[in-house]
Amino acid sequence: MSLTIKTQQSPDGPKRWIIWHEGQVLTLAGQLPETVDGLALTHQRHVGVIEDHAYLTAELVGPAPADTEWRPLRPLLAEQDTAHQQALSRARQLLTFEREHRYCGTCASALEYNGHDSGKHCPSCNAHYYPRLAPAMMVAIVRGREILLARAPHFSPGVYSALAGFVEPGETLEQCVHRETLEEVGVRIGNLRYVASQSWPFPHSLMLAFVADYVDGEIVRQEEEIEDARWFDIDHLPTLPLRASIAWALIQHVVTQIGQAHAHHPD
Ligand SMILES: [Zn+2]
Repeated sequence: MSLTIKTQQSPDGPKRWIIWHEGQVLTLAGQLPETVDGLALTHQRHVGVIEDHAYLTAELVGPAPADTEWRPLRPLLAEQDTAHQQALSRARQLLTFEREHRYCGTCASALEYNGHDSGKHCPSCNAHYYPRLAPAMMVAIVRGREILLARAPHFSPGVYSALAGFVEPGETLEQCVHRETLEEVGVRIGNLRYVASQSWPFPHSLMLAFVADYVDGEIVRQEEEIEDARWFDIDHLPTLPLRASIAWALIQHVVTQIGQAHAHHPD
């Protein structure tokens, strides 16, 4: 099951609505609603199709149904399969784009949607705008049976994760991984391998996950960004980030690889 991106009207058929109000998602009896009859909506956008269901998103401007439950995005994401995580992430980012790109940054005219893609254009000066995507790398550094994990001050208590940082203009992903690692913990790495990516709508990150081997250097924290960083044996890992996050998947991937590489072979 996967999300097929749509920017225009989907064929008639069953629908699911991702309705937002103050950053939360409307659910009825634990589900996304199939109809929005009687609701006052604005900023309606097409998200895509999952199996035979068209997913649409909009913002609620009027009162909500009496039996509505509003769900914050993070815990809701954690309960979803990959396709629905993507639909929620895309819906959130489309509405963020709508909110932040109402007027042209060059001439201040009201922007219009292109229709054939997710972008907008300015009818006065023909400037084009697209939803912002911020590529960010994440890296799990391996040394024997150990992984280097760190915690930032804003993490939940006790949680450690892989190192992460945003790509700078002009920089390749590979350069970003080496730079951030050196900046954040002072160690050098090699043998960089790409693992996977994930859309992460807080507010518009594209997380790209890597594994790397430790080369040399002692851990020296960047004090503003890293509260603690240390090597963890794969049998004694700390509390990890949300299961829905690519950080969790990356660390599991590395644990499996290390486990296989260090398995005891009686022969
Ligand atoms: Zn303009």
